[in-house]
Amino acid sequence: RFITLEGGEGAGKSTQARLLESALVAAGHRVVRTREPGGAAGAEAIRGVLLGQGPWDAVAECMLHFAARREHVVRTIRPALEAGAWVISDRFADSTMAYQVFGQGVSRGVFDGLAAVALEGLTPDLTLVLDIGPGEGLARAAARGETNRYEALDADFHERVRAGFRAIAAAEPARCAVVDATAAPEGVAAEILRLVRARLGA
Ligand code: C5P
Repeated sequence: RFITLEGGEGAGKSTQARLLESALVAAGHRVVRTREPGGAAGAEAIRGVLLGQGPWDAVAECMLHFAARREHVVRTIRPALEAGAWVISDRFADSTMAYQVFGQGVSRGVFDGLAAVALEGLTPDLTLVLDIGPGEGLARAAARGETNRYEALDADFHERVRAGFRAIAAAEPARCAVVDATAAPEGVAAEILRLVRARLGA
C-alpha cells in the first residue's frame, strides 16, 4: 500500500508520517517511510541542488522534481511495494502539481508529460492533504527555525498552493482526503489513522 502526505509549509507532514509509521508498525505491518524531494541517494542530491540554488525557471524546477521522483520511485518506492511493505511518503507528485502548476504557472501538459514518463502509472492508494492556512503554516515553520526560500514570495503564492491541494483532493475523492491540520498533532494523527483504516483496512 502506498500512502502520501501532502500539504503546504508547516502543515506537520513529517510529524504525521512518523506517527503513522509507528501505528502501522504496531499493527504488524512492514513500513518504509520516505520523503520528497529525496528518498533515494540521487534524489537527495537533486534535493540539495533544488533547495540550494534558484530561483529556477519553473519548468526546469518541475523537471528536476520529476528526475528526483523517478529515482525515488525506481530505487525506493517500487521495490518496497513489491516486497510487501507499506510505503509512507512525505510529499509526492501532488506537491509538484500544487507548487509548480498551481503556484508557479507550469502547464498541465508539461506536468502530465513528465508524470507519465517518470511514474509509469504509479498512483498512491491514499493521499492525505494536511490543510492549514498559509499564515499559520509559515509561522509554525519559522518557529522551528526553518528558512524557506518561498517565504519571501507573495502570500498569493502560498494561497495558490493551498487551493491547488484542495482542488486535487476535490477532483480525486476516491484517492484523497483533506485533513484539518490546525488541530493538535495527536488529534490529526487519530484522524489520519481512522482514514487509513476506513480506506485501506490497515
Ligand atoms: O517538505 P519539505 O519542507 O521538506 O520541502 C522542501 C521544500 O521544497 C519546501 O520549501 C517546499 O515548499 C519545496 N517544494 C517545492 N516543490 C515541490 C516540493 C517541495 O517547491 N514539488
